[in-house]
Amino acid sequence: MIFHVLTIFPEFFRGPFEHGVLQRARQSGAVEIRIHNLRDWTPDRHKTVDDRPFGGGEGMLLKPEPLFLAAESIFPERRADRRTLLLSAHGRLFDQNAANEFAGLRELLLICGRYEGVDERVAEHLADSELSIGNYVLSGGELAAAVVIDAVARLLPGVLGNASSAAFESFQQAGHGAGVLDCPQYTRPAEFRGWKVPEVLLSGNHEEIRRWRRQAALEKTRRLRPDLLPFKIED
Ligand code: SAH
Repeated sequence: MIFHVLTIFPEFFRGPFEHGVLQRARQSGAVEIRIHNLRDWTPDRHKTVDDRPFGGGEGMLLKPEPLFLAAESIFPERRADRRTLLLSAHGRLFDQNAANEFAGLRELLLICGRYEGVDERVAEHLADSELSIGNYVLSGGELAAAVVIDAVARLLPGVLGNASSAAFESFQQAGHGAGVLDCPQYTRPAEFRGWKVPEVLLSGNHEEIRRWRRQAALEKTRRLRPDLLPFKIED
């Protein structure tokens, strides 16, 4: 199986896969891990990967263009045995069922967010889905990608010494946290490949933006993580 990782910190992965099971799996050819530097897909001299969020707010977001260009170059066409996942605190919780499902793929692309996150169009139009490793916020998707690769790789044939040893390991239940997800965020350009940023974020009306964000956050939480909302919350 081939794992692709898209990151602004390729050196991060020098350590995690150079020990034990993963190291041997790579040496035997059962697993191949390709680390891609997001900055290789930036057209400007400064290799810019981030920009400020529309509508104001803290921090920076990863821009859509380099992520789309990179992912489309890594997977030039969609295929059933390839999957593109965005590591994100908003996603479906990664568990042993998901690991088993991914172990059936030929190639998996893991996109690592950084800063305050990633322009929402990546989740909407580039990734097949968003994947979280737990109800907590990490500084970047790199650790999460390493967790996913580790858990999936050890399920592949020939990776563990004893072929049946993975079958008897514990099955982890998905946890149940509480709270509301971050709202969808967008950075420049205001229109990318025909997908427009919600008009209200360009309005400069802070009260409207605040209300929109709360609604969008609730809507997204209801849609992606209804278990976090045991009762209906009114604005
Ligand atoms: N503002 C966002 C957090 C951004 S953290 C929010 O409140 O939801 C920066 C990056 O770290 C994210 O884009 C994502 O790629 C990664 N990340 C953070 N927590 C994660 C988790 N629980 N699982 C997987 N990736 C995570």
